Amino acid sequence: MTLSRREFLQVLAAAAAAGLPLASRSQDETFYDLPPFGNVSLLHFTDCHAQLLPMSFREPNVNLGVGTGANSPPHLVGEALLRHYGFKPDSREAHAFSHLDFAQAARKYGKMGGFAHLATLVKKLRAERGASLLLDGGDTWQGSATSLWTRGQDMIDAQKLLGVEIMTGHWDFTYGAARLKEVLAGDFAGSIEFLAQNVETTDFGDPVFKPATLRSLAGVPVAVIGQAFPYTPIAHPRRFVPDWKFGIEERRLQRIADEVRAGNGGKTGAQVVVLLSHNGMDVDLKLASRVTGIDVILGGHTHDGVPAPVVVSNAKGRTLVTNAGSHGKFLAVLDLDVKGGRIADYRYRLLPVFANLLPADREMARLIEAKRAPYAEKLAEKLAVTEALLYRRGNFGSTMDQLILDALMEMKGAEIAFSPGFRWGTTLLPGEAITYEQVMSQTAITYPQVVVTEMAGETIRANLEDICDNLFNPDPYYQQGGDMVRIGGMSYSCAPGARRGARIGDMRIGERPVEPRKTYKVASWAPVAEDFRDAGEPVWDLFARYLREKKVVRPRRLNAPRLIGVKGNRGIA
Ligand SMILES: [Zn+2]
Repeated sequence: MTLSRREFLQVLAAAAAAGLPLASRSQDETFYDLPPFGNVSLLHFTDCHAQLLPMSFREPNVNLGVGTGANSPPHLVGEALLRHYGFKPDSREAHAFSHLDFAQAARKYGKMGGFAHLATLVKKLRAERGASLLLDGGDTWQGSATSLWTRGQDMIDAQKLLGVEIMTGHWDFTYGAARLKEVLAGDFAGSIEFLAQNVETTDFGDPVFKPATLRSLAGVPVAVIGQAFPYTPIAHPRRFVPDWKFGIEERRLQRIADEVRAGNGGKTGAQVVVLLSHNGMDVDLKLASRVTGIDVILGGHTHDGVPAPVVVSNAKGRTLVTNAGSHGKFLAVLDLDVKGGRIADYRYRLLPVFANLLPADREMARLIEAKRAPYAEKLAEKLAVTEALLYRRGNFGSTMDQLILDALMEMKGAEIAFSPGFRWGTTLLPGEAITYEQVMSQTAITYPQVVVTEMAGETIRANLEDICDNLFNPDPYYQQGGDMVRIGGMSYSCAPGARRGARIGDMRIGERPVEPRKTYKVASWAPVAEDFRDAGEPVWDLFARYLREKKVVRPRRLNAPRLIGVKGNRGIA
């Protein structure tokens, strides 16, 4: 089904008449007016983390850049971000792109994302445009109960219905290599191409996936190259992809970019070269300065909702670098005017998906309902009510992780707890019920075990230094794109700009310094090391039990580190 523009507005008007909260009707009606431009359009979303339904997701108030990355996109938050992009305070954009007055603004503007609403937007934009491609940057099959329980099948069916044409991946690998191969040979065959130039077999170095594809859009040859998350076997248990090697593979990327542009075997060369990337934005910015011949990097992984492309110069030209946020909150639209074999001009918008401005697409809504039906009762169980805003994203602490840490320490009698610095996980508003589904939206992974260990003070410190370096190494190629591990029970200081090994200090439990040789009882979850694969119960069981006992979650103090040397940094608010 395609919706003409008039039909679309009629549906919208019907929605308004039905009493849906439309704050200012005239402005809201034109919110998705995006006049077509040029002759080739790329639609891109990324890191939806299996969120089929509208939800809330609070953008970070701490997203520090270090070195050359400081004080420039994507490391701008709050008012600094609004000023940089010219967004008005309290506007829809201010809500979509920043953490400011989150709970209040979320009540005013409603939930965001949801595949049924995204589908309506995709259909509208594609109907208005001549030739377009729909690209999915990955982290699509993980992040919800239903995706975990169906090993991504609910998302795979939704991707196909949405009309996704090309995808790359990251968390999608954590169902194991066999599952990925099964999907590519089955569901994806003839509909969705999974591309990754940077994955090879460990034995002979053979490519595992098709690296690139050439499509003709309105007669313009467009090449898309795929780039999967380069650190997949390090950031997750190795057992999921035991025979595959991942990397940034800059040189191979250069070779492929040159080849697709030159054309071969009678094929004409591409006039537009796109990298669909799951590197993370800082990595993409560096890559764009070193690899030539790529017109645009459509990026993901770091969940940065960046309203405009960053234009990066390199030896032979320039590359646009984007990052399209997460959780289905945004749809990126890149309209290109390709003339005389090159991109003459472009328009880019990262459109926030406001569920109450976009009527649900009926076919997609039906699919989602059918996928959820077998689990509906289990998902709906109300475990507790939160009086606090519960969010996850941010470089250091977050209220949702604090709650998980408190649960781990209390239920396991541990002095210290660790929770991974995942960037996915939806946000709950004060007064909302915490359902079983929401517990799963924070924890649904294929290695969910709770682990209790005795750890020496010096080991804790070494671990924190390692993790901190993954986040703040001044060379983006060493950044893995997660946030800092969340810590319960222990305070510390952190100097993001210091060198490796010198960032963590002043570790204390209460007033007592943590002693290097003394051992402490530490509870954590999501073990990457293989020794713990059968260690403990899944964290969602423990978390749900804790919430059922508590019934009410009160606002809690964030155990965030004392930060050193971040004064004046526009990545913290
Ligand atoms: Zn990712």
